[in-house]
Order: sequence, then structure tokens, then C-alpha cells
Amino acid sequence: MTKFTDIALPGPLLHAAADLNYETPTTIQEQVIPWLLENEQDLIALAQTGTGKTAAFGFPILSQTDIEKLYVQTIILCPTRQLCIQIAKDLESYSKYMPRLKTTAVYGGAAMYKQKDALKSGVHIVVGTPGRVMDFIRQKVLKLEHVNRLVLDEADEMLNMGFKEDLFEIMSHTPAEKQTLLFSATMPREVANLAKTFMKNAFQISAGNQNQGADNIKHFYYKVHARDKYLALKRIADMSPTIYGIIFCRTRTETQEIADKLQHDGYNADALHGDLSQGQRELVMSRFRSKFVQLLVATDVAARGLDVDDLTHIINFEPPTDPDVYIHRSGRTGRAGKKGISITIIHAREITAFKAMEKRLGREIVLTKVPGGREICEKQLFHFIDGVERIEVDNEQIDSFMPNVYKKLSWLTREELIQRFVSVEFNRFLNYYKDISDLDAVSETRPRDEKRVYSFKTFKLNIGASAQLTKRELMRYINQLKVTRGIEIGQIDIYNDHSLIELDGEFEEKILKAVARNSYRGMNVTATVVEPARRTKRAPAPSQGRERSFENKERSYVGNKERSYKKSSENSSGAGSYKKFAPRTKSPKKPS
Ligand code: AMP
Repeated sequence: MTKFTDIALPGPLLHAAADLNYETPTTIQEQVIPWLLENEQDLIALAQTGTGKTAAFGFPILSQTDIEKLYVQTIILCPTRQLCIQIAKDLESYSKYMPRLKTTAVYGGAAMYKQKDALKSGVHIVVGTPGRVMDFIRQKVLKLEHVNRLVLDEADEMLNMGFKEDLFEIMSHTPAEKQTLLFSATMPREVANLAKTFMKNAFQISAGNQNQGADNIKHFYYKVHARDKYLALKRIADMSPTIYGIIFCRTRTETQEIADKLQHDGYNADALHGDLSQGQRELVMSRFRSKFVQLLVATDVAARGLDVDDLTHIINFEPPTDPDVYIHRSGRTGRAGKKGISITIIHAREITAFKAMEKRLGREIVLTKVPGGREICEKQLFHFIDGVERIEVDNEQIDSFMPNVYKKLSWLTREELIQRFVSVEFNRFLNYYKDISDLDAVSETRPRDEKRVYSFKTFKLNIGASAQLTKRELMRYINQLKVTRGIEIGQIDIYNDHSLIELDGEFEEKILKAVARNSYRGMNVTATVVEPARRTKRAPAPSQGRERSFENKERSYVGNKERSYKKSSENSSGAGSYKKFAPRTKSPKKPS
């Protein structure tokens, strides 16, 4: 079968599929839909989320629902509120040309009365999380005695989440004669036992090898020193300028710490874990779904409710020791036929457990070198150049300026011009990256980029609070001096009529000259070095400071979204400054 329209589904369903641009059925749909249309036998389908399984059971169920009988004919059980809402939404879009068909979602964490009203008004299909379904059964609002189809979606996750008793009880309220459909990404013993207890002579369908995960996902791992894990993580992000991924950590604390560090280093990251309130979690998830956040640092449990289709990367910052966890994590990328990358970062003490997991998983996870400076530079450079190629030129705005610009640059050849224009963006970045060491755990030397130390000097400026100077304003002013991109900034003290600021002493002369050349709010500024360096500061590792400045700048060139631009200009005050005042939120920030 090559086309969705080849499936023997009623017109209204095919019409809805066409509206959704479902042209070709996915592997699981190709196997499950025709089978379900012809068989009443129980079914076990091994399929991960993202394989199109909702439509695989959704379309046949909708086509077999008797609209005239307004009672619950199908109950679909799933582990999380988010998945529940998603399935109900999907069913609604599939049945958009079946106006009399009624579906409702019942899930915890939301007021009961609305869900109750919906159930009381009569529905054909109920999608629910086990806990809430149980509540309504006990309240006798939900009656399952006429159910002829029961779907257990993400059965392994439901058992993982401790819903076993609820499932048993719910099933005891359904008629013995019914069709049970069990969908699961993995088939651990508990799921097999559940199937054995409740299903008869079940037919088994698998979309791909159950133990290996989808083929469109590349699996590899980096082996680094424990202390370099975070640096390796940043290199992954730097190597993929358009990364959109989840970083899995073990604990809530680690999750928050990594997210804080990434934010601090200028990455577009946020944390999702159980210490956040429901409202905060929803906010983080919606920011991530809308790609406002590119990197989500999460625990397994918190990430369960998140359903995102086009993740480019899954990063196991904490390597899973259970192959099912590995499959669940990596199955979040490479969805809906797209390509995905699953990377695990491990250190020496984790290798034995990781190798044992790999063996049980039954597929090779390839040891790969952590990207080096040259590779990252090349990637970023071409990303930048791509952006230049794609940028829309607003001729109306710039045409009048161009003759003078052409005249001024006429002495340069085409090659020289390109070299200079690339260097404007890249000199610092290239210099920064050219010396970084390999992170692969083969040598015992520390990465050179972590050893570098700045020596600050304190500069006294004759502007202070009386001139409405704030720390942020001062940092902006310093960055506007363009002494060097992303100059390292240390301590700042604002007094009424003057201010003290620590700056990288290497640039003393340039700073003093630049201050003399520039004014602040129309005022002449004077600067003197007032005392020897008060402290030294560790240089930022790759991606911090300079690199971030590069990235921000780069975003403002290639980012086609207003928010990217906003973020870049917000951060453009430079390395130290941003680092110093970067929001180190314990809770998610509000979208601007
Ligand atoms: P699911 O595994 O049900 O969560 O589906 C994953 C994603 O694939 C959803 O965004 C679906 O809308 C999409 N999808 C499902 N079936 C098809 C299809 N035949 N063609 C294109 N996209 C599909």
C-alpha cells in the first residue's frame, strides 16, 4: 500500500486524513489499520510514540463506532494527561467530518465538573488516564458495560508509573467480550504478563525491531572525563546550531543545575522536573513546544508528558542502565519518519553499566569522537554563510546607501571582501576554538580552554548613578566601545558620581582610548585604572563568553523569528556582563 487513500476507510475519514496531509501511511498504520478493519481479535502492537500509532488505532475505531448508540463504545487508556489530551485532539481532527461523533478526554490535574458534564451528556469514545477513569467509574459517571474496544496506549509507561492496579480494576468493569488493543514501545515482562492476563490469542504486530528502536535514529556515545561532561554537552550544541533536543539527567537537582549552567552560558535552555509546579511545567513545555526553548533539560518522569515530534537530538547526560529507558528516551527523536540523533555522554566509571545496557538493547551504540574546535568552527561558519545566502535584502531600505559602500570597498577583490566579511563575524570565534583540546577520555591533560585565566584591572569612570547609570547600562556602554567582542567583565560598583568596573587587563590601553573617543548620553567620559587587579577569574569554557557572543550575533543574522533577534540583542552586552547577570532561575522565565 503506498497511499492513505488506498485504505478501505469511509470517505469522511479519508477526507480528514487528506486535510492533515497524511498521504502515505506509516509502517505501523500500514500494518494495523487494514488488520483492525477486518479482525476482532486482540492485538499487541509494538510501536513507539511518533510512529503514527494514534492514527493506526484511531481511524479503525472511528470507522467502527456506531454513531446512533450514544454510550461509551471505546475506552482508550494512556499514562499522562498530555498524551490523553493529544489523543483526544487527534481523534477530533480525524473525525472532523463526523459531526455527531463524540469523544472526550478525562485526566487528573483538571477540574472534574467539566469532564463529568461531558460524560453525562453522552460520548462514544473516552480517552483517559487510569486514575481519573477510576474516579469516574467509582462515582458511577463513567459506565463501561457496553465497551467493545479497550485500548492500552503506552502500556509499558502506564505500568512504569504504577497504574497496574487501576488497569486491573478498570478492566474488571468492561465486558469480557471485547477487543483489547495494547500499544507499547517496549515489551518488558510486566507488559507481557498484563497481556497474558487480559488478552486472548492476541495477534502481534511490530513496527520495527522492538528492542532496537527506529532505524532513522543514529545512536552514538562520547567517552569523556567526568569533569568534561558538561563541556562535551556544549560542544554537541555548538556543533548543531539548529539543535532542538532534550537532555536527560538523573536528578531534579542535576537537571536544574545543567539548565542553569546552559542558560548562564548563553544557550537557549530550560529545566523540566518534578520540583516545578504544574503551572511552571506547562509553561516550560509550551515554550519548548513552540521552540522558544531549544534545549530542554529533563528527568525521565517529567519528560513523560511531553509530546514533541521534530526533536533533532536526545542527549543522555546521565546514561540509562535500563534498555527500555534508553529506547523511550531515544524514541523521542526520529519521529514521524524524520531523522534523529541519540547521544550518550559517559565517563570511565559508567562504561561497564553502559556496555551491559547496550548488550541487552541488542544494538550497537557507536563510540564517536567529541567534535573538535575545527569541526565546530566549520559547522558554525557554514551555518552563518547559509544564513547570509538566505537573508532577504531590503533593497528599498539600503539601496540609497550602497553606492557609497561600493565605492569605499572598490579596492578589494571579491575574495578579499568575502574574507573580511567572514572575519568580522569569525575572528574571535576562530581564535577561541583553534586551541581547544580534545575531550575524549584518552589523555589525562585538562582541556586548555579551561585553564586560561584572566587578569582584571579596575577602571574608574566619571559616570555614576547621578547620570542614570546602572550596571546593565554600564555593561552595554562597555560593549559598545567595541574594544574586543565579549570582553570579560568582573565586579561592578556604581556610586553616585562615579563607577568602578573590572575589565580584562589585557585591553587596558584599548579601553582607555575607546573611552576617550566615546561619550555616554552626550557626556564625556574619563577613565583611569585605579588599583591593581582585585581578583582573577577563570576563562569561560567553549560556548561561554566569546562564543556566546558569536552565537548571539549569529542568531541575529540568521534568526527569522523575532524572539531570536530579541534574545540576541538582549544578550549582546557581552560575555562577562551577560554571565554576571544572566537569570539563574529556579523556575522558568516568562516568555517575553
Ligand atoms: P503519533 O505516533 O500518533 O504520536 O504520531 C506522530 C506524528 O505523526 C503526529 O504528529 C501525527 O500527526 C503524524 N502522522 C501520523 N500519521 C501520519 C501519516 N500517515 N503521514 C504523516 N504524518 C503522520
